[in-house]
Amino acid sequence: MGLCGSKSKHTVATRDIDGYFSQEPTPPAVAVEATKESPRTPPPPSSGASTILGKPFEEVRSLYSLGKELGRGQFGVTYVCTDRATGATYACKSISKRKLSRRSDRDDVKREVQIMQHLSGQANIVEFRGAYEDRNSVNVVMELCAGGDLFDRISAKGDYSEREAAAVGRAVVGVVNTCHFMGVMHRDLKPENFLLTTNDEDAMLKATDFGLSVFIEEGKVYKDMVGSVYYIAPEVLKQRYGKEIDVWSAGVILYILLSGVPPFWAETERGIFDAISKGEFDFESTPWPTISSSAKDLIVKMLTMDPKKRITASEALQHPWLKEGGEASDKPIDSAVLIRLKQFKAMNKLKKMALKVIAENLSEEEIKGLKQMFSNMDTDKNGSITYEELKTGLARLGSKLSETEIKQLVEAVRWICTLRADVDGNGTIDYIEFITATMHRHKLERDEHLYKAFQYFDKDNSGFITRDELESAMKEQGMGDAETIKEIISEVDRDNDGKINYDEFCSMMRSGIQKE
Ligand code: ADP
Ligand code: MG
Repeated sequence: MGLCGSKSKHTVATRDIDGYFSQEPTPPAVAVEATKESPRTPPPPSSGASTILGKPFEEVRSLYSLGKELGRGQFGVTYVCTDRATGATYACKSISKRKLSRRSDRDDVKREVQIMQHLSGQANIVEFRGAYEDRNSVNVVMELCAGGDLFDRISAKGDYSEREAAAVGRAVVGVVNTCHFMGVMHRDLKPENFLLTTNDEDAMLKATDFGLSVFIEEGKVYKDMVGSVYYIAPEVLKQRYGKEIDVWSAGVILYILLSGVPPFWAETERGIFDAISKGEFDFESTPWPTISSSAKDLIVKMLTMDPKKRITASEALQHPWLKEGGEASDKPIDSAVLIRLKQFKAMNKLKKMALKVIAENLSEEEIKGLKQMFSNMDTDKNGSITYEELKTGLARLGSKLSETEIKQLVEAVRWICTLRADVDGNGTIDYIEFITATMHRHKLERDEHLYKAFQYFDKDNSGFITRDELESAMKEQGMGDAETIKEIISEVDRDNDGKINYDEFCSMMRSGIQKE
């Protein structure tokens, strides 16, 4: 697996993995805006002046005032925003262009906007309002979903039935069906990407994050390793897949909705991938003996290893357990399920927090130290440390982390440990989560190194380096033999004008990395 970072629009779990994952660029070009006013020779990205959406710059703040932060992923921060003209509130996902140094990252953002616009108006899909790009950022204004995510809603309940799980499952599978019908493969279905419009009982569930979605090309075999760890289909791991992967992910969500734990679980990411590749899951432990055979039948059909034999989204919507007014009963599910759902949720929150704290506060050296620290603490090397160990460990980093940040982390961990102790008496926390979270930081730094390298070659700051300059420099640096270098450069300099811009440079460097 190549260590070429790629867009890993970061939420939590995998985005733990996408540090390891490469993603193919170039989906089919779908013109979303008629105006094409990109300058002929865009300057390097750090100048912030290149266009991503391919339309004139427009300050989002001239139309909306931005309010409090709602959440953040790897690239974007989402704020509440208010339409200056009408006073109506929306959500604005703001993506800093500084973080989009790669061509593929910029393509991903453009595609995310296109897909959101394309799907907007469909049931259970967040409504798109507009996209605005200025020198520094791309801003996507959409419907505000102020009711928290799918798990918040369920874990707030006192009790919970198969009928309620089926209603949520129907919305999730409905989104898959809509996406596929509309020619989109979602690729990142997970509970965190489903938000509720309001706090009301009758709020709608909306899919919000299309950051990893692509337009489906008939007959194309997809290879990019993307997704989120628990929800990834086995054929994604084999790097040969199609839209059936979304049904698998929805099946994983359904399994979690009914049991509170993911079907494929291990202490490490590799362990989880092994479990997925075997495709065996537990129907014996609590609460499965009390769950209806009809629900289990649907899960078996959705978690079928062979994508060709897997049930499709539209078939699943007709399944007797899932369909409206179907067999799902309103008898309460075992209360352990709600407790575990809360725990699972807290865990994801912790990972998010850890990611933020680490990314904002620690240097690469310090991250190395942190890893070492965790592995030292884990005396029996089982991949877990106790809450007390973590507290002591974090306190040692005191110089870099603020009092509040340490408190927040420790609180989150304590909460998880308490919940865990309730469920299985195991008051420990998987430190792998902390370590994988640091991948992204490294990735960003790699991007910065790339840009520095580009600048090094581009002596006169023209935004281009010549083919000859690059060739001799690569030789000097001992980057492969002369033949390979020539080969790579002709690959890069497609128009054969002897000049290489930053985009071309980046893709070249990445393809070089991928080959290793
Ligand atoms: P990323 O692609 O970086 O994961 P997301 O699109 O998932 O970004 O947004 C990051 C976070 O912002 C989400 O986890 C959620 O908390 C919040 N968010 C995103 N869209 C909305 C929305 N429409 N309404 C309310 N909050 C949102
Ligand atoms: Mg997300």
